[in-house]
Amino acid sequence: MGKAGEQHTAAHGTERHLQELQEQLPIANARKQLISLVKAHQTLVLVGETGSGKSTQLPQYLYKAGLAEGKSIAVTQPRRVAATAIARRVAQEMGVQLGAEVGYAVRFDDRSSTATRIKYMTDGMLVREALIDPRLSRYKVVVLDEAHERTLPTEILFGLMKQIQEQRKGGLKLIVMSATLDAAKFAHFFDGAKVIYLQGRQYPVEMLYVSEPVDSYLDAALRTVVQIHVDEPSGDILVFLTGQDEIETLQRLIPERSLQLDDAESHGKMLVVPIYAALQPEQQANVFKPTPPGMRKVILATNIAETSITVPGVRYVVDPGFVKARSYNARLGSDSLQVVPISKAQARQRSGRAGREAPGKAFRLYTEAAYLGLQAASAPEIQRVSLASLALQLKQLGVADVRAFPFMDPPPPTALARALELLLALGALDQRGALSQPLGAQLVRLPLEPVFGKVLLSGAAMSCSEEALSVVSMASTDPVFLSSRNKQEVSTEMRKQFMSPLGDHITLLNVLTSYMKVTKSERGRWCEERLLNARSLRKALEIRGQLREHLLSLKVALKSCGDDLEPLRRAILSGLFMHAAILLPDNTYKVIASGQIVSIHPSSVLSGHKPRCIVFDELLRTTRNYVRNVTVVEPAWLPEIAPIFFQNKGSMVGRGH
Ligand code: ADP
Repeated sequence: MGKAGEQHTAAHGTERHLQELQEQLPIANARKQLISLVKAHQTLVLVGETGSGKSTQLPQYLYKAGLAEGKSIAVTQPRRVAATAIARRVAQEMGVQLGAEVGYAVRFDDRSSTATRIKYMTDGMLVREALIDPRLSRYKVVVLDEAHERTLPTEILFGLMKQIQEQRKGGLKLIVMSATLDAAKFAHFFDGAKVIYLQGRQYPVEMLYVSEPVDSYLDAALRTVVQIHVDEPSGDILVFLTGQDEIETLQRLIPERSLQLDDAESHGKMLVVPIYAALQPEQQANVFKPTPPGMRKVILATNIAETSITVPGVRYVVDPGFVKARSYNARLGSDSLQVVPISKAQARQRSGRAGREAPGKAFRLYTEAAYLGLQAASAPEIQRVSLASLALQLKQLGVADVRAFPFMDPPPPTALARALELLLALGALDQRGALSQPLGAQLVRLPLEPVFGKVLLSGAAMSCSEEALSVVSMASTDPVFLSSRNKQEVSTEMRKQFMSPLGDHITLLNVLTSYMKVTKSERGRWCEERLLNARSLRKALEIRGQLREHLLSLKVALKSCGDDLEPLRRAILSGLFMHAAILLPDNTYKVIASGQIVSIHPSSVLSGHKPRCIVFDELLRTTRNYVRNVTVVEPAWLPEIAPIFFQNKGSMVGRGH
């Protein structure tokens, strides 16, 4: 493992070591060629193996070659973690302070300044910048990284860049990058852009399948990790899970299980490190730290490790074959997160992670037949998610007829029509289909899905902006209620003080309000005693501060409704009315907009209660349709608050009970 070993120690070594590492990356050989190609062409499509150095090195090459011409280089990433981790790395490689020449900007977290010349950002942030500066005049080069992910904002940027390049006549370079890309399609879309393939290193990876489908992939993953640890020579293990819950479960179970091994001592220790979006940056950095001698690192990752982030040292990949994806539910008229099988392309990417430094093994926890039955590639997001914010942003970008926008793959016409209907019902568009004033124009400025933006702005109109800010901030962060088996009773008792019969949003409001009253130094302990997630609360408070700034810049008055929470509940309904549901005689609920039958999730404070009419912000599909984050509302409010939407549905409201 000579070479890989060197990389390990050097990864956190001196600057000189970093430089050596940089020079060893496959992209280093192509440096001169890349610079001259970028100089010669307006648009470049760069395809190269994950980990070859595209995201970290190319922007540095271009900057050092003077291609930023006193302006900046924007590099977009679909994922926050990738944007922040890569920016950190590049700042370190260049020996500069993060936020100076090299910075990042992701939603609710901006580490960039006027001095920033290489700016890593989520694709959504660059769209936001375009809303204010439609020609992206601060930039000389835009790099759209991980383009194969085809996220909604990247999709907007494709069309937008095409338009801006025409307007700026050679004044803006575009580089589209990916590990796996249908390069011809991209080249065609960008009118014959130059395509470059970067030679990478890839060692053979042995594929191992299960012979029979497994009942629980989490169990199977646990068993496989332990088996690798016992049977296989040294090398780290990368496990692909679908989310934080699964990661936390295995984080607990792997050490437990390894202690039960017969001759536990003789196998050496496993060092379990998680990596997922909600993790603190310092903890995220742990995955890049070299594995201590004699230990085996087990990286528990979400899909983030598929192409966005390359962790050194991995020889074994465990792939259960699933991913959590946002998808649009046409019947419900909104998105929900679902665990779905990965595509063949994803399976190949995942197993490829085992062969970056030496020959490796990929343990696929599905049968070979199941693999052959997977979709070739996943559909672009635009084909499967809610298009409300996309439509709103395009309107702001001056696209009067959103159907005529140059999409690489046009979205389904019905999905676009529904998005426009929703915007109309929210009052964001006027009857002519233009952004309404002031509501539509304000909504597009807020870094929120339009439905949550509406909750906030209605809150302001109904004199409860302070409370609406808290509710929306809490909805924008990870769950705050931790669960822990043995501490269950303590937490329930301590939490009772927050619980509101009016529902989860108000309960969350109570949590944040109490949290804000605790002095800073006490907050950690306060959360611990109540089994609350301190990180989520800290984040919620940060988000609240930023949204508050947004409201102030929109010249919206900040007011509190005190103890009278009716205006707040009305404000919540004014955004989430598509998710209003009526109690049925069998204690299930019928979503008025879609007719779908749902139940209140056991984790809701309203579970076991039977309010006549509710509104919720999340639908979870497991064996049943469960709804989470629920608020009690009055049926009579529906036609008052969303007249356009409930005009024809008035009779349904009465029929439900
Ligand atoms: P690509 O964009 O081609 O996938 P990258 O430029 O992201 O490649 O990665 C190049 C190398 O830099 C990889 O070996 C990766 O492990 C390393 N690297 C990237 N980010 C970090 C980080 N935050 N800390 C340590 N190493 C990193």
